[in-house]
Amino acid sequence: MTDTLTTVLDGRWAELKTRLRERMAATKPPDTIGLDMESHRAQVLQQLHELAEAGHSKVSDDVGGSVISFQMLGYGDLSLMVKAGVQWGLFGGAVQMLGTERHEGYLRDIVSLDLPGCFAMTETGHGSDVQHLRTTATYDDGHFIVDTPDLGARKDYIGNAARDGRMAVVFAQLITGGREYGVHAFMVPIRDEQGRPMPGVRIEDCGPKAGLNGVDNGRLWFDHVRIPQEALLNRYGDVTQDGQYTSPIESDSRRFFTMLGTLVRGRISVAGGAGSATQRALTIAVRHAETRRQFRRPGGDEEVLLLDYLAHQRKLLPALATTYALHFAQEELVAMLHEVQSARVPDERAQRQLESRAAGIKALATWHATSTIQAAREACGGAGYLAENLLPALKADTDVFTTFEGDNTVLLQLVAKGLLTDYRDNFADLSPLATARLVAEQVMAAVLERLPARTLAESSDLRDRAWHRQLFADREEHVLAGLARRLRAAAGGDPFDAFNDAQDHVLRAGRVHIDRLVLDAFVNAIEQCADEATQALLNQVCDLYVLSNVEADRAWFLEHGRLSPARAKKVVAEVNVLCKQLRPHATTLVDAFAIPEQYLP
Ligand SMILES: Cc1cc2nc3c(=O)[nH]c(=O)nc-3n(C[C@H](O)[C@H](O)[C@H](O)COP(=O)(O)OP(=O)(O)OC[C@H]3O[C@@H](n4cnc5c(N)ncnc54)[C@H](O)[C@@H]3O)c2cc1C
Repeated sequence: MTDTLTTVLDGRWAELKTRLRERMAATKPPDTIGLDMESHRAQVLQQLHELAEAGHSKVSDDVGGSVISFQMLGYGDLSLMVKAGVQWGLFGGAVQMLGTERHEGYLRDIVSLDLPGCFAMTETGHGSDVQHLRTTATYDDGHFIVDTPDLGARKDYIGNAARDGRMAVVFAQLITGGREYGVHAFMVPIRDEQGRPMPGVRIEDCGPKAGLNGVDNGRLWFDHVRIPQEALLNRYGDVTQDGQYTSPIESDSRRFFTMLGTLVRGRISVAGGAGSATQRALTIAVRHAETRRQFRRPGGDEEVLLLDYLAHQRKLLPALATTYALHFAQEELVAMLHEVQSARVPDERAQRQLESRAAGIKALATWHATSTIQAAREACGGAGYLAENLLPALKADTDVFTTFEGDNTVLLQLVAKGLLTDYRDNFADLSPLATARLVAEQVMAAVLERLPARTLAESSDLRDRAWHRQLFADREEHVLAGLARRLRAAAGGDPFDAFNDAQDHVLRAGRVHIDRLVLDAFVNAIEQCADEATQALLNQVCDLYVLSNVEADRAWFLEHGRLSPARAKKVVAEVNVLCKQLRPHATTLVDAFAIPEQYLP
């Protein structure tokens, strides 16, 4: 059963996963416990070189495969995963997606790690609002002059900057002929071959962090640094020798969001990495709960296994079910990325849907990781607090996943905007002006026409999948329609305030939409499973995913008359029944993740 389950989980990239697992199983990962920051950074760099030599980053045109490779690193030291993500995903990805033929030479050196680099977007003053970055790149006679005009414009938190990076893709406002054309990306050397900062570049170490201390995050300042004209990654905008700006996309804002959209792979990778870390934490906690005993049953000789307590099952099993659900949603997302980015003819609408889904799944998967890892830590009691049992590092390292590659709250707003505008151009623009326009133009009125009037059929069977799907779809439609109505009603006043006053509703709309997509993905995966017993087990896991989700949100279902109080109580009872039924399968369910044993305590 475990093997067939692994096959279902491994899905489309099963062969690659098997190969990577074998490679991981062949070596023991070096210890990170007790390492000082400098030693940890040195160790991670050494491991990164080993990965480069083993061809880890050479996934060529296999877009999905590159995300899967990253995801598998999530079973090990997350500093290594993040450092690899910075080098090959963010830095390499930006050169690949935003550059042209003239930048191809860089890619070889990036893959081989001969050119370690950074992705320098965030500034102290602007993190979520990257459209308003303040670093400038001013065209001057065949060169650009990159400058940090004030303290708020220094690049901050930049991975690979404090110690190892020699080049940075710097995001800056492009200025030519006295006009600003929005944010563009530039290749800026930050260190020479000896590791000394380049003239005009100041580098500072961000110092120790809550986690991920094997990654050297730093700050960068540029004092009128002169770079050649060709350093502009010019796929979406260029400057001629005589200083004329040209671009296939006229609107500055649309161009910027198109550029950002091509970088979606990083966000999807973080969601995948969060999934791997969650699976690892649950494997540790379930194994502990299957061996650890506390308190004696009256009249019995033996003490009771932790996993035989309902409270313990409730701590771990609904989280395990959600981990399965998110895993299948992630698999679909990776496949979608692969199709969109491998297509010969770009499909803009599919690209925008991909961006929205990536934002939503990243938000839910990383929040799920932090809450599940905390639950796993508590489930292991004092042992969970010991570094040797890995959970403290998992907790510390995954914490920031909710923030980097897009703050989760901001990302869920992006999902809702996609829904409200039916993925129209520029839906990713979250500036007050753009959101105010959305309300003022009543773009969302179309939502009301699009949504079907659904009558929610009752089902006596709490495990009726058709009813589950209806319940999730109805919640999504009702929340979205309610939001559209609320915004329309408030449109007479200040449109920015109207959107801001509805932010709770906006976030809920994003979340329940993703919940529905996650359920769809789970159902699709079950349908593709040929083995009957495995399918039956997955159906139970899916039931637990759905009913624990409904249980957590029963205030909404009750308030909106979707569940009667009696039925809401039955949902709670059914979650208990499912926990009991799945309890004997807990080990099978975590073993199916097939995490190499060296990566477990
Ligand atoms: C360890 C680490 C590594 C990083 N690596 C890199 C890197 O390599 N390269 C890089 O460019 N960046 C990097 N970053 C930066 C990271 O991407 C940003 O921290 C992130 O985008 C959030 O920006 P911020 O920190 O300015 O937070 P803010 O944008 O200031 O957000 C702070 C809070 O305000 C809330 N908020 C913001 N806007 C809104 C809104 N419109 N509505 C409601 N709430 C809102 C957010 O939800 C959040 O809770 C890294 C950060 C860290 C911590």
